Amino acid sequence: MKILKFGGKSLANGKGIKTAIQIIKDKAQQEGNIAVVLSARGNATDELLEMLEKAARKETYHEQLTAFKAYQSQTDRSLDFSEEFTTLENLFQGVSLLGDYSEKIKDQVASQGEIISAKLVTNLLKKEGVNAHYTDTRKLIKTDDVFGNARPLDVISRRNVINHFKSYNGTTVNIVTGFIGSNQNNETTTLGRNGSNYTAALLANFLDAEELQNYTHVDGIFTANPDLVADARKIAELSFNEANELATFGAHILHAKTIVPLIEKNIPLRILNTFNSSDNGTVITQKTNTKGIKSISVLDTVALINLEGRGLLGRVGVDARIFRTLGENEINVSIISQGSSERGIGLVIDADKASKAIVSLEKEFENDFYTKDVNKISVIDDVAVISIVGQDLSEFHKPYNALIKNQIVPILFNNTVSGKNVSLVVKKSQLHKAINVIHGQIFGISKKINIAVFGKGLVGGTLLDQIVHSKTAILDKNNIKLNVFAIADSQHVYLDKNGIADDWKFEFQQQKTAYTLQQIIDYAKAHHLENLIAVDTTASKDFIHDYISLVKNGFDLVSANKIANTVEYSFYQELRTQLQKYQKNYLYETNVGAGLPLIDTIKLLHKSGEKIKKIRGVFSGSLSYLFNTYSVEDIPFSMVLKQAEEKGFTEPDAREDLSGNDVARKLLILARELDLKHELSDITIQNLLPAHLQAINLQLFKKSITDLDQTYTLIKANQKEHHVLRYVGDLSTETGILEVKLISVPSNSALGQIKGSDSIFEIYTEAYAAQPLVIQGAGAGAAVTARGVFGDILRLTEKL
Ligand code: ASP
Ligand code: MG
Repeated sequence: MKILKFGGKSLANGKGIKTAIQIIKDKAQQEGNIAVVLSARGNATDELLEMLEKAARKETYHEQLTAFKAYQSQTDRSLDFSEEFTTLENLFQGVSLLGDYSEKIKDQVASQGEIISAKLVTNLLKKEGVNAHYTDTRKLIKTDDVFGNARPLDVISRRNVINHFKSYNGTTVNIVTGFIGSNQNNETTTLGRNGSNYTAALLANFLDAEELQNYTHVDGIFTANPDLVADARKIAELSFNEANELATFGAHILHAKTIVPLIEKNIPLRILNTFNSSDNGTVITQKTNTKGIKSISVLDTVALINLEGRGLLGRVGVDARIFRTLGENEINVSIISQGSSERGIGLVIDADKASKAIVSLEKEFENDFYTKDVNKISVIDDVAVISIVGQDLSEFHKPYNALIKNQIVPILFNNTVSGKNVSLVVKKSQLHKAINVIHGQIFGISKKINIAVFGKGLVGGTLLDQIVHSKTAILDKNNIKLNVFAIADSQHVYLDKNGIADDWKFEFQQQKTAYTLQQIIDYAKAHHLENLIAVDTTASKDFIHDYISLVKNGFDLVSANKIANTVEYSFYQELRTQLQKYQKNYLYETNVGAGLPLIDTIKLLHKSGEKIKKIRGVFSGSLSYLFNTYSVEDIPFSMVLKQAEEKGFTEPDAREDLSGNDVARKLLILARELDLKHELSDITIQNLLPAHLQAINLQLFKKSITDLDQTYTLIKANQKEHHVLRYVGDLSTETGILEVKLISVPSNSALGQIKGSDSIFEIYTEAYAAQPLVIQGAGAGAAVTARGVFGDILRLTEKL
């Protein structure tokens, strides 16, 4: 035999009730031997209790009652519920006169929901040709006298149920009222809210059912609430022990006491979705799952009570007094945490009991206030408890670190003594982000990285395209979801928490708005975006002043912009201090040599204690092209310059390259990597332009470039044989000299052999004294730079 149980939402008017009837009919015909336990339909129980409250307050409940009747009668007009409706009317009237009600009355009111529900379903099934039989559990489930939360009496209830089912076997499908029973005086009792599940479990136990199928409006038990965590996955199978932990911590479908009768008889419980019959749901069985199913659940109607005081430390009996006081006031403590060094005790209780708890504790500890053993009892009510079920404490540092990295500091955490279960208390405002971070961490499913890209020019634009195009591959390969939620230029931003697509250019135009940095930060906060990275592809002198705000607000930084590393050393230092403080990373591999792994290599060598003596090389792609070409071709210098411009190798104003400043900046960045506290002004720079070309406007400069030819023809001619010109950066840690200059080198040397717009870096260290370590390759251009930035982003995602 199988027991089917349907919840209120599955029985609501319209699609719910229709589907439920269809399911019962199909199962009765195909499988036979089933019994059906029902909840009240829709929100009937809540509504009934609301009307009862109104009546007790002597408010009008009539309109609501009319609506209730209409709703309950709507699906099947052939049924007569006048008995139930009259009962309700009489009860409400009495309560209204008295201005009060007992738990006994409350149970009589609430029970009508299940009675109506079972009568209706019985009748609808009969019309479908099913041999349905209305079964009122007040005649079967006998309970104690605790109205509102009655405990079934096992022996007699068991006998009643077995006997009833003996006389209604064969083709009969018993349609059973959930939730309700009666005491020895035949007075109606209820088994507590959501008690229909309990009824179903009892029936399954009494009748030795092979399975209890609980029809709900969800597909089963998830690794987290899918409304809060988009990546939540359904758990196909879990053990009763695990389910029990879930039930204690807020999974509404299950209640701890529901599970006991099932465990006793080893009956599987299957959670199914009425509205998605193709899904197999979640099955909960006796077997312990060795895979260690994990799930995250949330309790958000809680408050945290803090008792602080010096005298608490080492005092015996304080805990006992707290618990006694709370116990006497019927306040249940779900989590307790006592930090031995903190000299305080934290307690998590239901939010609606917070003021009562404070008042009673203050009274209990009144004397301790005078003796200053207790100095504060406070309440924080905007908190939530996140429980990670199945979380082994030895592995807990992983989600914990992920939280800290995302600037979420739990207010307290504790782990259950038995089993694997860690609970954290966090600020409610951080709940959403916190569970997403934990979930992503624990399940290793697609870590989501939220990126804001500043600058959408050549490098920025290329990067955005690269991200869009390799997104899916990265998700498949690395389990990383790259989500660009902001694209900003100097004036406008386009924000989309769900991430850009390949039409980002169009969307930017459509959706762009003026912005301040704070708005982007606020947007990330408001949408609980975790693992934040800000990418600077601008060349802006101003934007770098936003770096520190970004870091303080939880962003890691990736930058192709050289400015932050080349302004005054005090800023360089301050940025690193803040990065350290907020535990954030700042990657800028493309600052020197575009995508070439130069900075990484130098960092590694330097950190490992390898003494770097000298770095020399061609740092500029444009100047590389210029002199590589000019040295071997017999054409005027101005013509090569023009070609370079046309090929996009130079800055729009080529003088930025020719001035040597760009190379100097790169040299400075490398020097600072070696902990040399240099300023840009410490570098001797050979400007490739004569003074009269430096100050004029761009147009005039373009017309005057032939002025350069004579000088460079002479320089070229004055070289030794088999020599070529190279514009290099040169740094010596031994002499402390940093210079940027045009030199002549043998054409068969490493420097002499580079081609096109390649960069080359020679690193001389103690180990590589005679033969330098050489890093060479495409060191400029939007595509390789964007690739380099992308590389930094991916490197960061591994750290996050
Ligand atoms: N109708 C009752 C309630 O809402 C029992 C149940 O649905 O399980 O609590
Ligand atoms: Mg590089």
